[in-house]
Amino acid sequence: MTTSWVEGATGSGFDVDHLPYAVFERPGEEPRVGARIGDFVVDLAPVAAGDMLAVGHLFEAASLNPLMAGGRPVWESVRQWLTGMLTDETERDLIEPSLVPVSDVALRMPFEVGDYVDFYASLDHASNVGRIFRPDQDEPLLPNWRHLPVGYHGRAGTVVPSGTDIIRPQGQRKAPADDLPTFGPSMRLDVEAELGFVVGTGSGLGNRIPTEAFADHVFGVVGLNDWSARDIQAWEYVPLGPFLGKSFATSISPWVTPLDALDAAWVDLPGQDPEPLPYLSPGATRGLDIEVEVVLNDEVVSRPSYSSMYWSPAQMLAHLTVNGASTRTGDLWASGTISGPERHQRGSFLELSWGGKEPFTAVGRERTFLEDGDVVVLRYSAPGAAGGRLTLGEVAGTVVPARD
Ligand code: CA
Repeated sequence: MTTSWVEGATGSGFDVDHLPYAVFERPGEEPRVGARIGDFVVDLAPVAAGDMLAVGHLFEAASLNPLMAGGRPVWESVRQWLTGMLTDETERDLIEPSLVPVSDVALRMPFEVGDYVDFYASLDHASNVGRIFRPDQDEPLLPNWRHLPVGYHGRAGTVVPSGTDIIRPQGQRKAPADDLPTFGPSMRLDVEAELGFVVGTGSGLGNRIPTEAFADHVFGVVGLNDWSARDIQAWEYVPLGPFLGKSFATSISPWVTPLDALDAAWVDLPGQDPEPLPYLSPGATRGLDIEVEVVLNDEVVSRPSYSSMYWSPAQMLAHLTVNGASTRTGDLWASGTISGPERHQRGSFLELSWGGKEPFTAVGRERTFLEDGDVVVLRYSAPGAAGGRLTLGEVAGTVVPARD
């Protein structure tokens, strides 16, 4: 195994087998692209200039979009170059001046989001929500669910980086027992622990992205919290799906883990019954062995596992484009809430508290939905190629009171 000369990197969640990207900013300087090793950001632009790397200008941008648009050959060559620089002791003098402690930088929005789609790919989550929202039905899943990855187009302009305060949304709410809706701050504000996938190179109008072309188009993954106002959502979602109950904010991690860092994380998904249509490549559906932690005010309240999802990432992208819809650099799609079969694996408070009826305990008291001042952090980890675990980008947000 190759090890890095950067102190503290070996065996950490940011070892040389990870190398996630972000956009960072130092006081008085323009934001630009960096990669993480150990507790440092590699300021890539000066390192690339010093090494006369042909694509070094891509790191001078204030977003990852130019790098992502470069396509798979560029992603692979940059990763190979950077791995070499960080493992070859003779390169140390060139790079060391450009290693900046993570604590000395501010992290920005990592990429400009194109279109944003949110799926609903967890069987356990979809079943739980079906039972909570439609308790009078015997079958919690709607008839389409096992035949296609259900999704909706979300609001790209309100995808925000980790650390952005979440202003409690206002809107129409109507409980089933009420005759008429009322207007006011959401009383059932919630989180959804999800994984986001970022398109690097898009596809033209009229073209599909088959499942086998997944890795040619997908640059990497981010942590994602699909904040959800359940009372607004429950009243508005029939028949066209989520709207204002979701569009006020979606948080993503500042670090984007390249798909290439996840080679050791692929696993077979639990299986699909009935067999989906041929364009969804039934059979060997592969997912990612990513462990998630939902942290409320410094206490872990749930541990969902992404490996239990029903629909695979490649199936979601194939479905997203099967009608010929084009994709472009920066498009983002989310997995849907990651929930497992056990109570402690539920990725939303809606499920953890069973619609608010069965409070869960956090920091010594009973909880249902989010309160003003709550801090939610989503953490993610995956097996790395070097045998340890990668620490994927975390997503944090603090709930602040509704505005008048
Ligand atoms: Ca969602």
